[in-house]
Amino acid sequence: MHSSLSELERIIEATSSLGSLPINILYKIVFCSFAKAGLSLFNATDDQKAELESLIKTIPPTFKGLLEGKLYLNALKFLRSINLSLWKTKKPIIPEEANIHFILNFLRKNVGKVGGIIVLDCASVPEMVAMAGKFAHTSRNVVVYSMIFANPIGTTKFLTEQLTYLGRESTLKYYAQLLKEELKAAFSIKKSSIDLIVHKYGVSISDFLNLLNMQEIFEQINHFVKRNSVLITSDHGYDLVADEHGLYITHGYKRESPLNFSRIALFLVID
Ligand SMILES: [Zn+2]
Repeated sequence: MHSSLSELERIIEATSSLGSLPINILYKIVFCSFAKAGLSLFNATDDQKAELESLIKTIPPTFKGLLEGKLYLNALKFLRSINLSLWKTKKPIIPEEANIHFILNFLRKNVGKVGGIIVLDCASVPEMVAMAGKFAHTSRNVVVYSMIFANPIGTTKFLTEQLTYLGRESTLKYYAQLLKEELKAAFSIKKSSIDLIVHKYGVSISDFLNLLNMQEIFEQINHFVKRNSVLITSDHGYDLVADEHGLYITHGYKRESPLNFSRIALFLVID
């Protein structure tokens, strides 16, 4: 995972150069660069590519060079290495990164103490990168950890079921609370706005981008980041699926798709 996360750092650095843009536009640029990279690795059909291209046309042309250059190329490298680790074996394996106990050990050792915990249900790589880029632009110290939480089936349940073994109630709110205790944070928050949009099953990519209010999510987080260091993470991301229905967003998709982000969750610290 280490090499793929350094690609992510490069993407965040490039994104921070767009940091003065409203986050909804910055986010759309990041999302489209990952989607474009995903489609080119997936052998997408002309119709599927055209669907994304019409979305890219709604972005001011000044940013096309970055979207299709640096961001796209680093997204390609990131996806190649992530896909390699997700699909290298046909047998369903449960890596140690899928074990909460293992993750907590890593975080205790490497993160130590933070001011607050924010768990965003279903937050995926593009949302995390967009927020990291925006915070990096305001000269905050942004760290993406080399560890990911692996969620082989891409569902909240895969994570929350493990909480019962730790004597906790099995909902995501208690995962946030567990992280709070482990990292001696003052507060923990769980937010479901991204997951609620993804659960409108088969939400097309343009509907998804229209429904997702990154500005609101960013402002809610920024409220805490102003006074505290904050760890932001999720339970799983989402998948971008390309099939006969076109391009849409879901999570827990069972087959390979252009973006298989429901199988991973990142850990981001804003200091
Ligand atoms: Zn969900």
